[in-house]
Amino acid sequence: MKDFLRSYKSYILILISVLFGWTLGIWFIYYNFQKQKQTIFSNHLDHKLAMYNSVLYSMKELTSLYAQGIGASQNIKNIFTTYKENEEVLRKKIYQFLLPFIKSLVSLEIDLHFHTQEGRSLLRFYNPSVYGEDLTQYREDVVYVMTHKKPVFGFSTGKMLSGFRHTFPLLDERGDYLGGVDFIISLKHFEKLVYQLNPGACFRLIFNKKETVDKLEEPYKSQFSHSFFGEDLVEYQGSFRNDSLCGSTLHGLQQDLKFKKAISSDKPHIVELKQQGKVYEVVTLPIKDFKEKTVGYLLIIQRAEAVEGLYKEFYRNVYIYTLLLLLILFISFYTNRKARESFLERKKFNTVIQFMESAVYTVKELKINFVNPKLLKLLGYSEEDLIGKRDHEVFVEPVDDRCEICEAISKGEEFTGDMVLKKKDGSYLIANVKVSHVRDELGKVVETVVCFWDITLRKKLEDALYLNSITDPLTRLFNRRFIATVLENLKEKASETKQTFSVIIIDIDNFKRINDLYGHDVGDEVLSVLAETLKGQLRDQDIVGRWGGEEFIVVLPETDLKNSVLVAEKLRKAVEDLEIGIHRLKITISLGVSEYRLKEKEEIASLIKRADSALYLAKRSGKNCVKFET
Ligand code: GH3
Ligand code: MG
Ligand code: MG
Repeated sequence: MKDFLRSYKSYILILISVLFGWTLGIWFIYYNFQKQKQTIFSNHLDHKLAMYNSVLYSMKELTSLYAQGIGASQNIKNIFTTYKENEEVLRKKIYQFLLPFIKSLVSLEIDLHFHTQEGRSLLRFYNPSVYGEDLTQYREDVVYVMTHKKPVFGFSTGKMLSGFRHTFPLLDERGDYLGGVDFIISLKHFEKLVYQLNPGACFRLIFNKKETVDKLEEPYKSQFSHSFFGEDLVEYQGSFRNDSLCGSTLHGLQQDLKFKKAISSDKPHIVELKQQGKVYEVVTLPIKDFKEKTVGYLLIIQRAEAVEGLYKEFYRNVYIYTLLLLLILFISFYTNRKARESFLERKKFNTVIQFMESAVYTVKELKINFVNPKLLKLLGYSEEDLIGKRDHEVFVEPVDDRCEICEAISKGEEFTGDMVLKKKDGSYLIANVKVSHVRDELGKVVETVVCFWDITLRKKLEDALYLNSITDPLTRLFNRRFIATVLENLKEKASETKQTFSVIIIDIDNFKRINDLYGHDVGDEVLSVLAETLKGQLRDQDIVGRWGGEEFIVVLPETDLKNSVLVAEKLRKAVEDLEIGIHRLKITISLGVSEYRLKEKEEIASLIKRADSALYLAKRSGKNCVKFET
């Protein structure tokens, strides 16, 4: 596991960063989405609340106007003052007096209920036959108005009706309480008003059972029913329920905790509900009694299309962002793989180079940036001596003021050749150097690799071999093959420079006899001494070689026949004067001279032949003499 983590560290890091980026981005998208949703919901709630308050306000104002009319009416006050002792008459008088006015109110679904000074029911316009019961037993608003002589407004339930009641005191000139009157706006009317302001929504009116059903007499309880909103809650059986819109939504609300919380609070709320891919908003507006106590709720349920749009946008953004990050992840993994591959390649390269038998260094931007151990061992430098330096500053020795490696490196050219390298101890080595370049996709040199092998020993061997191949082992003079090459070269050169040259062929006189008399070894010694003598008599540019057996050849560049004969004579004389070895042997030589015929472009074979003929002549002329061919 540890190894796995180590080898995939870079991948894991990328994954973590991308996941982190994804989480951050999604959080940001979600945060924005929530903020926008909250704004929409809060605007909707404000709007519904304003509507609700304006409905309540309008009901309150309307009833207030009527109440003021009644309260200010001298006739009503007179009726109350005059007949306060006789309730029967009082009731009839009020009924007769107000009936025309009340008829117009009935169409507005507003009802009127008068009460006596003592708080008994005096007259219900909607049910005139029922009266006389003590209202103070169950109508807190009536008690409040009797005591405080101030009107109150709020939801209230009587024996027969539930609705919004505006309850007013009737006061005489001295401010004494004559009786009271309440205007009842039915739930049906309230529901109608709300519906008119929100035609597209569906509504529910739910109430505390205690505040409604429990107060109503039996026949009137049926306008409320138990529903799924809770045990203590009942639902008003209104006519603007709009079930087709949100029948199923209501069932969904049963499980919704936020909704449950909303219908147990005193404040307006908006709750989001998602069902079958649709989003609904449920606004809960508390309905209060005259003491501002919450007794029920108005629920407004609507499709929240703007929020649905937001959801779509949210999912789309999440999708796009996820795709984008997947793409980034893919690209990062790919790039990382490539980087890892090149890292491993580099490692492989370094490992190979560490073990390589040839010395290697690499150059980047003309400076040495890598050296292998073999190079350090071979040249004796430390890494610090070399890294960051230019090669010709340290170990590459210019030859004829030229540094071929440096030129190849700076020009980006390939190079193979032998170079002289300087070791740290000041000594030199000959190296076979190969310069090659690492190029990028555009062919630009990014790094140069220089390999070299120490060929000092090989060079020495090669030189020795070469020397062996051109010399005669006994006399250390050039052999016949080399002389032949020299002559061919001179012939070539002569045609360009018009400079002639000559050859002298030398043969020892009666050499067989020396061998016969003194042995082969003495013969060999004579040959060696003769070779040394010839070399000692000649100029630096003259070349002497062993032509075969006891025959020698002297090549005299830029020398004509006349001078060559003089040289030959000088040689003959020097040999004649020799006394060789312990036997103090005396020898003589015969010499044949010929000059190269420049004008005829003579072949070398012909030149040699003519010298041979001259030699033959010398032998025939008694030996120990010089003859020449003209
Ligand atoms: P001439 O004056 O006519 O040249 O007589 P010569 O005896 O020198 O001529 P010949 O050609 O008959 O003999 C040459 C001898 O040189 C024969 C051979 O044994 C000897 N010889 C050739 N090469 C070598 C060598 O490498 N070492 C020795 N010791 N003798 C050699
Ligand atoms: Mg001979
Ligand atoms: Mg001879």
